[in-house]
Amino acid sequence: MLAAPSRDWSVFKQIFVDHWEPFQHAHSRYQTPYYAGLVAKMLACGTPEKIGYIEYRCLHCGQGKHLVAMSCKSSLCLRCAKVHVDNWVSQVSQVLHAGVIYRHIILTVPAMFRTTFYQNAAVVLRAFMRCGAQCLDDFYSEVRGKALRGGSIVVLQTHGRNGQYHPHLHVIATSGGDDGQQARWEHLQYLPYALLRRQWQWHLLTMLRQTLQTEAVKRLVDTCFTKYPEGLVTNVQKGQVPAQYQSLARYVAQYVVSPPIAVRRIDRYDGHRVTYHYRSHRTARVEHETVEVETFIGRMVQHTVPKGFKRIRYYGVQATKTFAKVKVAIQAALAKVEGVVKGAVKIIARLTYRQRYEQSTGRDPFRCPHCQREMEVWRIWHPTYGVIYDEGEVIKRGTYASSAQRAGP
Ligand SMILES: [Zn+2]
Ligand SMILES: [Zn+2]
Repeated sequence: MLAAPSRDWSVFKQIFVDHWEPFQHAHSRYQTPYYAGLVAKMLACGTPEKIGYIEYRCLHCGQGKHLVAMSCKSSLCLRCAKVHVDNWVSQVSQVLHAGVIYRHIILTVPAMFRTTFYQNAAVVLRAFMRCGAQCLDDFYSEVRGKALRGGSIVVLQTHGRNGQYHPHLHVIATSGGDDGQQARWEHLQYLPYALLRRQWQWHLLTMLRQTLQTEAVKRLVDTCFTKYPEGLVTNVQKGQVPAQYQSLARYVAQYVVSPPIAVRRIDRYDGHRVTYHYRSHRTARVEHETVEVETFIGRMVQHTVPKGFKRIRYYGVQATKTFAKVKVAIQAALAKVEGVVKGAVKIIARLTYRQRYEQSTGRDPFRCPHCQREMEVWRIWHPTYGVIYDEGEVIKRGTYASSAQRAGP
């Protein structure tokens, strides 16, 4: 995976160079090789001789050269964020089914549980994602009055707009479900939101009580039921049929795979404080915030999920090959629904390094600037494995073989 050159992000790196060590020292939670690795990789990112590279050369005129640094794959790295978005979009696009109507539903956690989530992330997050999918199935079933199994793609997001810890789920759900006979697909046109809010509250709180089983959590759960008799905030994004979107995946990507604080949102860093801005959902305005550097680093690293944790999961018909089985039923049911837009979801191919580079600079990175011919891979170097490929050696070997023949009697 290769990262395209991005705008200057040296400020972000500088913040970690200056303050990561004292930060880690002060917070034992982050004193692990995993976090040390995330930061080290991120700091080396963009430096070809540290992170590895692919060198292209023009084999026609011998003058053109282009070096592509490998991407670091660190979840902390803002330089690689664009690569993550593109990969996410293509990953999700591949599992969305053309012609099926999906809804984008957001399930939130009340502020009173944020600390509980943060402190128990390793056990709670997985159960949290599963209970989001379960909640929708139960909701659909109750609305229709019989057991339905829909499909959902659940994405975990732990930050709000300003980078604070704010766990919530983005669910891309089919707008109905299979009734178990595998013959009928029930499409739900209308969703009673009041019911969804109460059901989500029940699912979330039951999951927390069962997963954590402490007196403190039980008390919080009771308080939450009393405090929010109408249920919890759930948000069904308007325009359920994604006809107006070129791509549902790209539309959702803007909500879910953005880094907590992007490079372009950092306005100032004076060695002690960081100023950044973000667009607030609440006020619909651009808000500026200045925080101590320690708070800033905390906001960035608290969103890294446990090692190996999958932030996107697939449930129900969306999860397995069962989709192929119910597909005919789905399409037959949807054909009867008014206003169905065929091919509402457009499948997007994965953007390559070349396309990303061309999009951001307007220049083809692999065209020789001297003779305009296509350049070719000359050498690949990896920090662990050393030189993986060397065209010069290949040519040399070829030359030796032929000269040896000529030198013969
Ligand atoms: Zn990177
Ligand atoms: Zn050339």
